[in-house]
Amino acid sequence: MEERDYAELLDRALKDVPELTTEKSDFVIPTTETFSQGNKTVLKNIGMIADRARRSPADIAKYLTKELGVPISNDGQQLVINGRFANDEIDRRIKRYFEVYVICKECKKPDTHIESAGRGVAYLICEACGARYGIKS
Ligand SMILES: [Zn+2]
Repeated sequence: MEERDYAELLDRALKDVPELTTEKSDFVIPTTETFSQGNKTVLKNIGMIADRARRSPADIAKYLTKELGVPISNDGQQLVINGRFANDEIDRRIKRYFEVYVICKECKKPDTHIESAGRGVAYLICEACGARYGIKS
């Protein structure tokens, strides 16, 4: 085999390697489990989701209230959302919550906390890599 062909082959082989998104973190965003109860939707695994996010169920309830535009009651075990929503829709919002408010954009780890700077400004601070950047609170 000519050297040039080999280089080309290698180049092609490298391009076929999928991007290793799990290289830095193997964190998986939890999947929501919901069921409908009359005209309400119950998110029954908020405790586990909040644990994984290291946020309180109340924080997540507040976010969902804003996103969905409906009142949500929270008893610490489950969230009762006013209105009927498909599990997919709730799941998508939770994934977004993790992407914006939990997972570090630099190292992709969830070991973060939020520090409020007042006036609607907050910082997401990563305890794993030390990254710090502004988010909307
Ligand atoms: Zn980080």
